[in-house]
Amino acid sequence: MNKIVLASGNKGKLKEFSEILSEFGIEVLPQSQFNVEEVPETGTTFVENSIIKARHAAKVTGLAAIADDSGLEVDLLGGAPGIYSARYAGENAKDTDNFNKLLDALKDEPVQRSARFQCILVYMRHADDPTPVICQASWEGKIGFEPKGDNGHGYDPVFIPEGHQCSAAELSSEEKNALSHRGKAMQLLLTELKAKGVLG
Ligand code: IMP
Repeated sequence: MNKIVLASGNKGKLKEFSEILSEFGIEVLPQSQFNVEEVPETGTTFVENSIIKARHAAKVTGLAAIADDSGLEVDLLGGAPGIYSARYAGENAKDTDNFNKLLDALKDEPVQRSARFQCILVYMRHADDPTPVICQASWEGKIGFEPKGDNGHGYDPVFIPEGHQCSAAELSSEEKNALSHRGKAMQLLLTELKAKGVLG
């Protein structure tokens, strides 16, 4: 079985990638299995940060690597929190701290609350791969006025997807995967990897 290292410590992401890629005879291994430490995300774009993570994992393990980077862009805030979504309310901030800070930042704006999630997925054949596969997808919506729902993670309770009255945290995981930035980026990555002959 071909092996790919996933440049993430997130168990949910590992499960998601493993389920999809195992159908094609690919075993997805977490970077923790190789004692790959998290690398500082020093880029200023999602693309740079994903490449930094994939390159580091490929370098340490000698395997092909997949990395992802994602976040929320709010138009009224000039695209913030963007690449800083996970630490919007500070290092080690909890999801609730982050989305409460966001609700507070928008509290005087009843109308212009448009936002989108962004996801970048990168596949690198090796650490010096000069042509990484880069897939990008987004999920349009707006920021609600209070948190709703218990599913999902991150900003899901305050994100109202376009065409919905409920929050992303009120969707089932199947519904979310069919619509979300990450679900769509995964489908694009599959198509690209098939076209490049990585997947049989
Ligand atoms: P990362 O790509 O795992 O580093 O995610 C960055 C941050 O973006 C997460 O910590 C969340 O705060 C936010 N985020 C990314 N995708 C989602 C999502 O699908 N729902 C809610 N929050 C998300």
